Amino acid sequence: MADTIFGRIVRGELPISFLHNDEVCVAFPDNAPQAPIHVLIIPRQPFEDIIEADDQTIGHIMNVAAQLGEKMCPEGFRLVTNTGHDGGQTVQHWHVHLLGGRELGWPPG
Ligand code: 5GP
Repeated sequence: MADTIFGRIVRGELPISFLHNDEVCVAFPDNAPQAPIHVLIIPRQPFEDIIEADDQTIGHIMNVAAQLGEKMCPEGFRLVTNTGHDGGQTVQHWHVHLLGGRELGWPPG
């Protein structure tokens, strides 16, 4: 698994305040937000994508994402995990986007 900018973030090498931080994952604001609330939840272990991640980590991260969503976006939210080229994944370290704070359109582009 190649190191990425998210590897540096989970190791605390960049000055980013975490919204959530535990032994499995961290959450922090996206630096190019696509909605008023745009948070990334990423595992400490650098799985390339959701296909590589194990069930326990996937379950934990989805749980954390849902809890953050409930707290930060009381009117509702969307969880997204872009995968591979066609999915629009640009950072090869698995992550879940939490988007909310406005009504989101469907289908996505
Ligand atoms: P993807 O396109 O892989 O689904 O999502 C990658 C996300 O990471 C993008 O929304 C992008 O804005 C965000 N991102 C990329 N580099 C950084 C960074 O250095 N800091 C933060 N906070 N977000 C980043």
